Amino acid sequence: MDEKLLSIDNATNELIKKAQTDGVETIWDRKENMKPCPMGEKGICCRICAMGPCRITPKTPRGLCGASPDVIVSRNFARMVAAGAAAHSDHGRDIAHVLHMSSKDGNYKVRDEAKLINLAKRWEIETDERDIYDIAHEVAGVALNEFGKPFGNLTLPPSLPEQRRKVWEDLNIVPRAIDREVVTVMHSTHVGCTADADSMLNISMRTSLADGWGGSYMATELSDILFGTPIPRETEANLGVLEENYVNIVLHGHEPSLSEMIVLAAEDPELVALAKEVGAEGINLAGMCCTANEVTMRHGVKIAGNFAQQELAVLTGAVEAVIVDVQCIFPALASLTDCYHTKFITTSPKARITGATHLEFDEEKAFESAKSIVKEAILNFSNRDNKKVFIPKSKSHAIVGYSVEAIINQLDKVVNSHIDPAGTVKPLADCITSGVIRGAAGIVGCNNPKVKHDYGHIELIKELIKNDVIVVVTGCAAQACAKAGLLSKDAKRLAGQGLATVCELVDIPPVLHMGSCVDISRILHLVGEVAKFLNVDIPQLPVVGAAPEWMSEKAVAIGTYVVSSGIDTWLGVAPPVTGGPRVLEILTNELENIVGAKFFVEPDPVKAAGQIIERIEQKRKVLEEMFEKKEELAKA
Ligand code: SF4
Ligand code: SF4
Repeated sequence: MDEKLLSIDNATNELIKKAQTDGVETIWDRKENMKPCPMGEKGICCRICAMGPCRITPKTPRGLCGASPDVIVSRNFARMVAAGAAAHSDHGRDIAHVLHMSSKDGNYKVRDEAKLINLAKRWEIETDERDIYDIAHEVAGVALNEFGKPFGNLTLPPSLPEQRRKVWEDLNIVPRAIDREVVTVMHSTHVGCTADADSMLNISMRTSLADGWGGSYMATELSDILFGTPIPRETEANLGVLEENYVNIVLHGHEPSLSEMIVLAAEDPELVALAKEVGAEGINLAGMCCTANEVTMRHGVKIAGNFAQQELAVLTGAVEAVIVDVQCIFPALASLTDCYHTKFITTSPKARITGATHLEFDEEKAFESAKSIVKEAILNFSNRDNKKVFIPKSKSHAIVGYSVEAIINQLDKVVNSHIDPAGTVKPLADCITSGVIRGAAGIVGCNNPKVKHDYGHIELIKELIKNDVIVVVTGCAAQACAKAGLLSKDAKRLAGQGLATVCELVDIPPVLHMGSCVDISRILHLVGEVAKFLNVDIPQLPVVGAAPEWMSEKAVAIGTYVVSSGIDTWLGVAPPVTGGPRVLEILTNELENIVGAKFFVEPDPVKAAGQIIERIEQKRKVLEEMFEKKEELAKA
């Protein structure tokens, strides 16, 4: 591997070179010129009141109000968690609103009735002899109430083991209403409120749980109800999926309420005909970031790339429009698209960007609205400057669509129907307890120019599967895997013998694509079910999480709810907490005694893999002894 290259991905390196030739800047240029503030890096600057900004130095060991470094660091951390939880949860709320407007003849319909009925029953909503849309509207109403209900706690999903709930109850971190937890963080971090790092971190954990087991969980379940529960399907990934003679549309952002309609609009015969009229062979949709994950999981839409590649898509000179909604969208796309013919179209009032063309997406007239946005892209085809076009050849085959339901369906292939019931996680639990699979890792998160692009994800994952650790992926980590060929069934040749055998028998790749960032709730669901099946708490399982290239506040919320759920989490980039010794001690050590798991920070993915495997083996030893004792007791 050439150390000078900024990415392990050829297409990325080729387009970074093109940026230099074209004289435009990318995130890597901006990174080169940015000298991070050492205070910010350690989390010891505070600007939450006008007596400040204050920063901690040897001469000024406290803020003007007397806040210690730990207080400042813990408040800053809590606000990151709150912002991340707010982003995921507001996404979940929007999907609940869409469910509320669904109708038999409307644009948004119920696609997974069984999942809707199941959720309705869980929430004690009458389902017998009722119109499916009446049920849907009532479910949406209950879902929306979870955001701001005045009393009691969040209705947590049944996949949460009782032992875990008890831990949270004892710590008083069972989330109440989703919005309430975010508001509480904003209140407690105000000047003159919480000034105790331990307490601040407890509040952060509760807020993160409102995301993972609340807002994100809801976003996933309601999206499945509305747009269909994913099943395995084939796709292709990387910038080579753009096509020279087609109208290329890159869909970027997060919420499936927009992307689902764009997918439909791009198939509309009237618009396909228009594309031909303007000289193209058709319309080619490709996804970016989590929107890519949503539409590839449900429709097999090709994946253009992950977070760091968003500018590179424009640099191909072959993209007629980048259509975005919310989250993870570079404002830099506005000036970059000025240098090419590409239209940068914002659609959400929550994320308007100066310099972009704003075509607001109207959910009330969703299909018509999506059509007019797609039309804008088609009409831009004739503006393409062929001299500027360069589409890299790289693209890889991938299998996506592993929802929990799809995984259980695959597991049913190895169930002996004379002995065991179908439709459970037993085969997975058996593989883990027997040691054929040593453990499982959820690798998630973003790209970050502090890490060689995709290197953190791919090196870590290759090491893990080689050592018989099955990997599930979401977000931009999933797209890194798709590009590197790890989501193909052939990738089992890179797995250890135990995992390769399981892949062969169950007919799966060694790395399973479970969806977008909100779909990390699918991972919680699966881990919770395995823990419940084995009657253990989550921290007793040989299961880990990792975010080797994380960058967003959403990732901080995710990491915090994963650890609070009892899953050790490895970070490839240090969070801005190193200036608070007490905060650092809690996060990387004491949390283990509090919630059964903690954070590890390790920038070297090979070293991280070694630590993960060691940790998994420690957990296995305890688990195996526990099961041996149980067996002996049963025999006696
Ligand atoms: S809250 Fe305290 S530390 Fe923060 S800016 Fe105000 S005075 Fe400074
Ligand atoms: S993984 Fe990170 S960069 Fe990618 S979509 Fe999710 S939050 Fe954004």
